[in-house]
Amino acid sequence: MMNKKGMLIVYSGPSGVGKGTLMAPYLKAHPEAVLSVSMTTRAPRPGETDGVAYYFVTRERFEQEIAQNGLLEYAQYSGNYYGTPRAMVEERIAQGQDVVLEIEVQGAMKIKKTFPDAVFIFVLPPSFEVLEQRLTGRGTEPPEVVAKRLAAAKAELHSASLYDYIIVNDEVGRAGERLEAVICAAKCQTKYMKNLIDKVSE
Ligand code: ADP
Ligand code: 5GP
Repeated sequence: MMNKKGMLIVYSGPSGVGKGTLMAPYLKAHPEAVLSVSMTTRAPRPGETDGVAYYFVTRERFEQEIAQNGLLEYAQYSGNYYGTPRAMVEERIAQGQDVVLEIEVQGAMKIKKTFPDAVFIFVLPPSFEVLEQRLTGRGTEPPEVVAKRLAAAKAELHSASLYDYIIVNDEVGRAGERLEAVICAAKCQTKYMKNLIDKVSE
């Protein structure tokens, strides 16, 4: 299918809910989909590589990027800036690739205004207690950061109803299957098939 634009997938959920865990196998199985690498002012966690997990930058550099309109969206979360570099997303979509933005709710709502055709997916924990356990169990943040993130999670969970699809991450295998099914269904929407319909009916 030539001349087909890619789909923008906005993917959110509270910190520690399992977004990375569920998306990794999807991306592995779907080379037509790529994850956008965000820019952030937070410090790298052990094992996070610059340019892979994030582009780790100073506040000055981030603010420069905002001023130059280099970000598709950005937000402050837990005291740090996070933003989506514009160029890569626009290029890949134009080339027909699907681009996944793993971003928090405020940024997602900005995308909803600028890319109304994007598909919005929210990962929900089966309960708040389970979220607490996962975030603590991951062991990547000190207790005060975990507390801050759980407070942010409370607010974010209220925004779940603004999304098109909810994936409850109860068990990794089943939740992963639902994620696969949801993206597949989103890609089959008529609005993404116009070119093909025209071509086949010519
Ligand atoms: P996020 O990307 O949303 O911050 P992660 O993917 O890092 O979350 O997952 C947070 C922690 O929860 C990790 O230790 C991960 O192994 C674990 N986890 C993810 N999904 C499940 C699940 N369905 N059941 C149990 N543990 C899970
Ligand atoms: P973390 O510090 O756990 O990597 O990310 C914290 C939160 O920031 C997560 O909810 C993550 O999805 C979100 N985030 C990551 N990159 C971006 C981005 O480019 N823009 C916005 N708005 N949020 C982001």
